[in-house]
Amino acid sequence: MCAEEGASLQRGMNYRLKGKNTVILMSLRPNAPYADRVEENGKVLIYEGHDVARSLSKNPKMENQPREVNGKLTQNGLFQAAVARYKDGAQPELVRVYEKVRDGIWTYNGIFKLVECWNEESEKRDVFKFRLEVTDEQISWQAQDLEHNRIIPASVKITVWRRDKAACVICQSKDNLHFDHIIPFSKGGSSLIAENIQVLCARHNLSKRDKIE
Ligand SMILES: [Zn+2]
Repeated sequence: MCAEEGASLQRGMNYRLKGKNTVILMSLRPNAPYADRVEENGKVLIYEGHDVARSLSKNPKMENQPREVNGKLTQNGLFQAAVARYKDGAQPELVRVYEKVRDGIWTYNGIFKLVECWNEESEKRDVFKFRLEVTDEQISWQAQDLEHNRIIPASVKITVWRRDKAACVICQSKDNLHFDHIIPFSKGGSSLIAENIQVLCARHNLSKRDKIE
């Protein structure tokens, strides 16, 4: 993943990475460090802000998530400022979302717009929450452009991933997973509906002739 972002990502939140794209890494796994969640059938992502750096605190999980440190905006603060500009009428910040599937494996979930930011109490401290919505541009672009129709939208991937419980539907393996078109794309199968997409391991994916993504 992320080769196209031109950087090895260490942080979950990356406002205008190298002056270009804003990128976030999310995880819905039960033991993920942050409480990210998906709502409205995959169209909305509620993303938790990030804790104070370990170098600045003995126990980051006990402290309010910072907006700034030493007078400099943190990633939380940069994202919050982007929301404020959007509310003032600017274009929304577009955010590329990658999801952690397992260690070292990430899947691209598409481009979301950053539209809302608030603080809420979580285990006796304040955390940032950000609301991101799937871009309409992405959905219409995929619906119009047949060549790109094989790219499975984020909302569909998230629905399928949860339905299939993050495992190959044939052998329940959790290694080397792929999204597979049940009716192949080349035979007219859609990428846009969850009913035509399933999770397969590499072995079972390869045993089908059509290679997807
Ligand atoms: Zn399998």
